[in-house]
Amino acid sequence: EWLNFVDFFNRIIDRFEIIKDENTVFERKLLEQGAFVEGDQDKLTQVLDNIISNAMKYSPQGGKITFKMEEREDHIIVSVSDQGMGIPSENLQQIFERFYRVDKARTRKLGGTGLGLAIAKEMVEAHGGEIWAESVEGRGTTVSFTLPYDRNEEDDWT
Ligand code: ATP
Ligand code: MG
Repeated sequence: EWLNFVDFFNRIIDRFEIIKDENTVFERKLLEQGAFVEGDQDKLTQVLDNIISNAMKYSPQGGKITFKMEEREDHIIVSVSDQGMGIPSENLQQIFERFYRVDKARTRKLGGTGLGLAIAKEMVEAHGGEIWAESVEGRGTTVSFTLPYDRNEEDDWT
């Protein structure tokens, strides 16, 4: 099914906007025009739910969470940035492995199984995209993924 990713992303952010606490601010830098992605809406919802709930969970002090969409030749880049505890650079690759959790007392106190990003990676790759993370410990984290896209809905051309 074809999704207008701008509308889809906005709806998911709206849902989190309701449950966020007062110390957390959301900033949206989405595309103005549509960006059509062919994919499974439930699976892509799960990807974003995982990434956004991590941004909130690992920012116990709150701060700004920035939602961004950028266009490239044949794909979009979607990213979620937080100002939370960050991830040590030596662990950045491992966070996408099943059951991996950064081993820190403060992380262990926050619930979770360590499956969220492993599932997100599997689903992004099943859609032909890539996922990665950038982080500065103590400063914050950006998780980004790509998805192949069309500027127009495919049906417009047939
Ligand atoms: P689950 O998502 O299964 O409830 P989880 O959040 O621990 O549990 P993942 O979402 O896979 O698991 O994340 C793996 C680990 O990566 C986390 O335990 C945490 O240590 C680290 N991590 C993920 N996102 C962030 C983030 N935005 N800021 C800091 N650390 C993060
Ligand atoms: Mg998680």
